[in-house]
Amino acid sequence: MQTATDINRGLQRDDFPLLGRVVHGKPLAYLDSAATTQKPNAVIEAIDAFYRETNANVHRGLHRLAQEATDLYEGARADVREHLNANDTREIVFVRGTTEAINLVAQSYLRPRATSGDEVIVTEMEHHANIVPWQIVGDMIGVRLRVVPIDNDGQIDLEAFERLLNPRTRLVAVTHVSNVLGTINPVKTIIKMTRQTGAAVLVDGAQAVPHMPVDLQDLDCDFYTLSGHKTFGPTGIGVLFGKAELLNAMPPYQGGGDMIQSVTWEGTTFKDAPARFEAGTPHIAGAVGLAAALGYLRSVGYEHIAKQEQSLLAYATARLQALPGLRLIGTADHKAAVLSFVLDGVHPHDVATVLDAHGVATRAGHHCAQPLMRRFGVPATTRASLAFYNSQSDLDALITGIESAREMFQ
Ligand code: PMP
Repeated sequence: MQTATDINRGLQRDDFPLLGRVVHGKPLAYLDSAATTQKPNAVIEAIDAFYRETNANVHRGLHRLAQEATDLYEGARADVREHLNANDTREIVFVRGTTEAINLVAQSYLRPRATSGDEVIVTEMEHHANIVPWQIVGDMIGVRLRVVPIDNDGQIDLEAFERLLNPRTRLVAVTHVSNVLGTINPVKTIIKMTRQTGAAVLVDGAQAVPHMPVDLQDLDCDFYTLSGHKTFGPTGIGVLFGKAELLNAMPPYQGGGDMIQSVTWEGTTFKDAPARFEAGTPHIAGAVGLAAALGYLRSVGYEHIAKQEQSLLAYATARLQALPGLRLIGTADHKAAVLSFVLDGVHPHDVATVLDAHGVATRAGHHCAQPLMRRFGVPATTRASLAFYNSQSDLDALITGIESAREMFQ
């Protein structure tokens, strides 16, 4: 295992077969990990082995394969609990991803509890997944969305947050790490501040778990979410953590098989969490792949990951800031390796298209954060988002590509 920080080559890059690809005749520089991460062999092999050797449905079968599949699925849940240091495996609900996790909380936690005039607090930097579900439920019952402003570097104004907290606050929903700005938010402080009121806190961890250790018992939030595909695991699987007493007091989000205690024509009783929120056949191979991804992350080690990513971030920031006419959006003191920028006179989509021709995969657009784009007065940005497998040469290719976009369009 390669552990020394060396930004000339990506950490454990050889574990990721796709990173060896050539795109448009150039070696791929994959700088779109905030959209989705590439998968290590450990994950690909775990999914392959599941379908080759074990595949069966879970929970209901008495045959050998069904028992093995159930053990793998429930073992994955135990691995997630351990990885996040949650109190109990029953607090780990498998869902499709962060989007479904937040919708579940909006429909099953907020909707039955809130009354007209209640408030949900979010921040200006939220992903649409952490805005729209609250609006959908809010519009049904008259719940107002209150928005915490951020400063020009992309940092939450904690004093403004304190002023927004009030007895009508039902829930505070905040991202741990911004997918656009890279800002790492002081979620522990936010959770502590919210505890002074009776409100619950949901933390959107989609961009955090791929980069940093998360200790849920230490954080003490009520809900936490992650997406498998952003955490080096498969698509279609994610996690909602919820405190057991909250989950068990929440009505199911969807009905169907595997979540009931008993069904009669008169009515149905439900199992406790997590089963009550996992109607139907779950994404068994996805859970197996996610557990493999988290195990792989632990084997690489978050301290090595942070060192590598922070070195790459420092290098990229210095190189980008030296380019005339380039404005970085997101310059918080404490940030993850995400670099959003606009280039004078060149549309962000044109920058991304030229970069693609250089084999550099970035993303251009509003990044599902339109209110944040408005806050910074830009219609879109080009975003390079990094993971530990990136290298200095990926960033050099980025700089060369931006320079050539400028030559072509300015
Ligand atoms: N929150 C954040 C901060 C994100 O970056 C994303 C994905 N871009 C989401 C939520 C939604 O995640 P998913 O699409 O995996 O449900």
